[in-house]
Amino acid sequence: MSAAIEITGLTKVYGEKRALDGVDLEVPAGSIFGFLGPNGAGKTTTLRILTGLAHPSAGEARVFGRDVVSATNEVRADIGFLPDVPGYYEWMTAPEFLRFAGHLFGLTGSVLDDRVEALLDLAGLTGVTQKVGGFSRGMKQRLGVAQALINAPKLLMLDEPTSALDPIGRKEVLDMIASLGGRTTVFFSTHILSDVERVCDTVAILHEGRVVTQAPMGELKARYGTSKLVVGVTGGADALAVRFAAEPWAAEVARGENGSIEITVADLAEARRAVPAAVTEAGVGLTRFESGEVSLEEVFVDLVGGER
Ligand code: ATP
Repeated sequence: MSAAIEITGLTKVYGEKRALDGVDLEVPAGSIFGFLGPNGAGKTTTLRILTGLAHPSAGEARVFGRDVVSATNEVRADIGFLPDVPGYYEWMTAPEFLRFAGHLFGLTGSVLDDRVEALLDLAGLTGVTQKVGGFSRGMKQRLGVAQALINAPKLLMLDEPTSALDPIGRKEVLDMIASLGGRTTVFFSTHILSDVERVCDTVAILHEGRVVTQAPMGELKARYGTSKLVVGVTGGADALAVRFAAEPWAAEVARGENGSIEITVADLAEARRAVPAAVTEAGVGLTRFESGEVSLEEVFVDLVGGER
């Protein structure tokens, strides 16, 4: 599998602050890759280094095999980038803005015409004649993504593309990102878990300047949460919870909604045998017995902690 981005030991120090502390990351070509982390984790710093806007203190980063420091111009020709706070010329219309962006890449004539038309369509902005200054945030952001695609990049990088948007604006930007799947590698940073769950096939979680995990979405959930049971009983839940917590097949027992018992199990087969038996023995009824699917949120909180 070829890599769109390979990062090894990437470190960025600002004075006393280690914004990045030995980041290792591999973004497969063709993936829609979510770079997930809380505020201050180092996402923007990573994107700035990849786009040649900041220099690493140590380590290296390659885009399609090229070093981002020694081959910055070649790397830039392969990428499209939407920064976290993009600037727009508010007096332009969407086609004017895209044509302007195209000229900066030396595009002219029918190549530029065709690309502007296709990108307006992709952004859902065909026929919109008002000036960018009157756009909603969602429209602006869709235009921003279109602008980042004007040079037909092999890799599109977006820094927190949905963070300032309302739910509808977010959905539209995410749909736009999803529609690029298979055509362009997309690497986008976010702190919004549901964005990643909705469109990404691969995810890395960044925390305090380090990648704490990286995996395809399905694998990540399977790795952290195959074995969770939710048990509901007609009575005696407290005593049963205490009893389950002492069992070798239970890794962790917590109380969930409506008095349910949530068990993170070390041995699912054994738990499936033992739980109904214990409920029967306690002389109460079983109202719920489910294998719960772990959410990305649980994986995230598990890895990053909820202490902030
Ligand atoms: P956010 O979503 O808040 O932008 P982030 O994950 O993008 O978070 P970064 O902006 O990369 O995080 O910042 C990582 C850390 O480095 C933060 O603690 C930040 O304060 C610090 N930092 C970033 N840029 C600088 C700078 N130019 N000088 C000093 N510290 C910086």
